[in-house]
Formats: sequence, C-alpha cells, structure tokens
Amino acid sequence: MLGLMQGQPLLISSLIMFAERHHGDTQIVSRRVEGDIHRYTWADVGRRARQVARALDAQKLDFSDRVATLAWNGYRHLELYFGVSGSGRVLHTINPRLHPDQIAWIAEHAEDRVLCFDATFLPLVQAVHGRCPGIRQYVMLCDAKALPADTGIPNLVAYEDWIGRHPAVYDWPEFDENSASSMCYTSGTTGNPKAALYSHRSTLLHAYAAALPDVMGLSARDSVLPVVPMFHVNAWGIPYSAALTGCKLVFPGGALDGKSVYELIEAEGVTYAAGVPTVWQMLLGHMGPNKLRFSTLNRTVIGGSACPPAMITAFREQYGVEVLHAWGMTEMSPLGTLCTLKNKHQSLPEDEKMKIRLKQGRAIYGVDMRIVGDDGETLPWDGKTYGDLQVRGPWVVREYFKGEGGDPLREGWFPTGDVATIDADGYMQITDRSKDVIKSGGEWISSIDIENIAMAHPAVAMAACVGMPHPKWDERPLLVAVKKPGAEVSREELLAFYEGKTAKWQVPDDVVFVDAIPLGATGKMLKTRLREQLKDYRLPSV
Ligand code: ADP
Repeated sequence: MLGLMQGQPLLISSLIMFAERHHGDTQIVSRRVEGDIHRYTWADVGRRARQVARALDAQKLDFSDRVATLAWNGYRHLELYFGVSGSGRVLHTINPRLHPDQIAWIAEHAEDRVLCFDATFLPLVQAVHGRCPGIRQYVMLCDAKALPADTGIPNLVAYEDWIGRHPAVYDWPEFDENSASSMCYTSGTTGNPKAALYSHRSTLLHAYAAALPDVMGLSARDSVLPVVPMFHVNAWGIPYSAALTGCKLVFPGGALDGKSVYELIEAEGVTYAAGVPTVWQMLLGHMGPNKLRFSTLNRTVIGGSACPPAMITAFREQYGVEVLHAWGMTEMSPLGTLCTLKNKHQSLPEDEKMKIRLKQGRAIYGVDMRIVGDDGETLPWDGKTYGDLQVRGPWVVREYFKGEGGDPLREGWFPTGDVATIDADGYMQITDRSKDVIKSGGEWISSIDIENIAMAHPAVAMAACVGMPHPKWDERPLLVAVKKPGAEVSREELLAFYEGKTAKWQVPDDVVFVDAIPLGATGKMLKTRLREQLKDYRLPSV
C-alpha cells in the first residue's frame, strides 16, 4: 500500500519561490568586482532568476543543456544558480584557478553551451574561447557600459542586456526530481578531471540536512558570509540552504584578504561564515595586529582541510566564535560530517572537549560511513583503528559524468581516498590521505601531474612530488628529483620548466635532488618512506 501524501518533486525552483514569498525583503549583499557594494533582496533574486530562465529559453537551450560560470560569489552568480537549474538546465561552475588548458578541456567535456563570467576572468575567457567551439553565447556579468569593445570573443553580451530584454514572468517547469541540476569537476584524483553531477533531489535533501542545528544550523536570524567559493561544490550548498531558511546572504566577491573580509563581516552584521582554513588564517592575521574584535560573528564552519587546533582556540577564546569543523568532498555535495558536541559532552573539561572538536565530526543524517582495511574488511569504531573511509547516501556520487573513470563504487560504497578512525560515539577523524594529491589553500594539486612535467625534462630520471606542511597554505608541493647519470639541471632551471605547463600556484615551492627515491616491491614510489626521510626538511618560505 502506498502512502497517500502529495508527491511534489523536490526541485531547486521551489527554494527560490519559497525565499521570494517568505523572505522577500531579506537582503542579499555583494561586494562587486566593480568595487562597490550591491544590495537587494530575495524577491529581486527570484525576479531576475526568472529573467535568466527566459534568456536561456530565448537562446533555445534544451532541457539539461549546460550553462557554465566562471565567477566569484555574488548576486548575479546566485541568480544563475536558480535561473539555470530552475529552468531545467545544468549549472556548471568552473574553477577559475585551474590552468586555461584544463578549463578548455572541462568546458568541452561538459558540452557547455553558454559561459557566464565575471569581468576579472575576461583574459581567461579570451585565452580559452578559441578552444571551446561548443559555447554559443558568452555573457559577461556586467552592464552594457562595462562591456569592453574589442574583446575578440564572439557572441559576447553583457548580462544586464542578456536578461534585461526579458520580462520577469515565468512559470518554473515541473519535472523529475532526479534530473541533473548542477555539476562540478574535481581534480582531486589523478587522470582527467571528473565531474560530480548533482540532481535536484540530491541538492534539496542536502540543503535540508545542511540546515539542521547540528550541521550548518542556518536560520532566518542569520547573516551568512560564504567565503567558500560558489565555483567550488556550490559553496558547500549554502546558496540552497540560505534560500530554504531565508537567511541574509553576504557575498565577498573576489576580495578575500583579511581586511576586506573583516570589514564586510562588521558592516553587514555577519553572524555566520564559512570557508577553508587559509582564508581564516588571513582574517586572523589581519585582526591580531590591529587589535580588532567581532561585534556579531558567532559561528564559523571550517572545512576543506584539517582545521589547525590554534585556529579553533583563537576563534573560541580570543574572539568568542564557535568553530564548526566540517569534512566533505565534491563527490558528496559536499557535506559528510560536522563536529558538534553531544549533550553528554557538555560537562567535560575544556581540554577533553577540544580533543573532540579537533575531529572531523559525526556523520550527518543521510550519510552512512565506514572504515575498511586492505582486504575490504570493515574495521571497528574504537577511535584507534584506522582504515579507508567509505561513504554512501542520497547526495553521494554513484558515478562520474559520462562514466569517466569507470565504476567508482566498492560494494555500493564510495571510497573517499581519506584514511580515518571512527570512535565509539561516531566521531570520524582523518589521519591520512590515500589519494595522491596535495591540497594547497583548499585547492588540489595532482602530484602525478607535477611529477610528469618534471619527468619530461631531459635531465630528470625520476621525480616524486610530496606535500609539505605550510602555515598559510596548509600544504605546498615539494619536488624530489633524481638526475640522469651525467646530466645537469639546477633547482631554478627545473622550476622554470613548469612555466606555462601548469597553473602558477601549482608549481612546486622547492626542488630537492636525491640519489634515489625509495621504491616498493612493485616499483611504486614509497611516498610514506620519502616523507619520513624529509621529516627535517623545511620549505624555503616556512
Ligand atoms: P572540499 O574542499 O569542499 O572539502 P574537495 O572535493 O575539493 O571538497 O576535497 C575533499 C577532500 O578534502 C577530502 O576528501 C579530504 O581529503 C579533504 N578535506 C576536506 N575537509 C577536510 C577536513 N575538515 N579535514 C581534513 N581534510 C579535509
């Protein structure tokens, strides 16, 4: 017997309709690339999202066609989030920090039809448009006055013209909630980037779960500053959870330095912020010497990399801000765990509470997790035994876009590439990473890509790239190289060899030449052994 309740599909359009109707006068504030502060409301987002939908109809885009963005966190990007997905197209947020070659590859792989970009990224679009024959329309997120004359980009229009021609009258279509809504490529693993393809259903379930008190705990009382970029896993789903709760949103644009972020927090009464440790490092680095205080900020979600203990302490003790340590990944929409204490922990001494806060946290409802050993056996939750962390749930990928990389699941579970312990209370703690990547300032660097470039140098016999601890960027790449017999190459020559072959920030910080790199029985480089050998090494910038 089936239940007799109504079966409205879970669609992203319902979020914007809700925010418009129930929180229509709540503000959305953006620091624009133009430099000024822009201010309007959820009602305006709804109105302009419908104009976006109309513009896409006029463009004759089919259902599920991809619309790409290269944009900072801002109001126009938010309108695209709802207008593109709400009208049944797929929003493809591209990470502008990637190398232009990779961006061109991704845009073609995703079969993007429209590309909307901030003025900041005009040179990037000029560099890649010739390699993106599938893109029919380029839209610069600006008004007609700000559109430069001779960009060389065909079919370029100013966003305000593009949507301004259309009335804000539009009936959001109803369709299967399992339809694709947005996509995000991750270079977190080796090989070509792979896309997680989210659905309306997965996005809405994630938005509900994210808003729970023990998760992000967002509410209409909050003024929320997502510093985590909207081009990176949908800013951890905040645009959707914000519409669902009706909170005020404050967007930092491209100004992520400590001073700009601090001023925005104070000016807009921000109560809640979200970002990677590197951004908070810059904020605290600005506040300390200037003896600044927060007047309204009371919670911050920190994730993407392990949150250093000193940062949790500084936020809590110096500034009275509660830190919510979070873990997740692109393949998980991204939220997996969040660290909040349970009722029984409230009376613990402060140092015991701190031990818990340092963990990545408890699974949120909807995410099932387990740790497994080398033979796939499930391991106990004792807080000591560590194993490969696997997850499953309605907002975890089943497969990548176009089946790239084959079937990623193991007996229905998604292997995260993280190594972790789980304690008896269900708190997960990451102890290591089994995937061969380095995470610098919240962004991935593939060690294999860096090694392959070095190996292409005629004087290099073998190269290994490892992540070294860095106080600002969390990790930075170090290249360890073995020279070919009789060949000569200097550190500087090898670093110069990277020019144009990868994004600048992915170039190793240093090169160490060695006689041999430790190898395992199967000839694989033993990076754990190499890291041990380098335990006393410090990067030049540290
Ligand atoms: P995001 O940066 O939004 O978390 P990515 O897919 O780029 O998403 O990266 C996910 C990976 O980042 C995880 O598999 C893990 O290796 C690392 N990571 C994310 N959050 C944390 C955290 N709190 N502590 C340690 N590592 C983390």
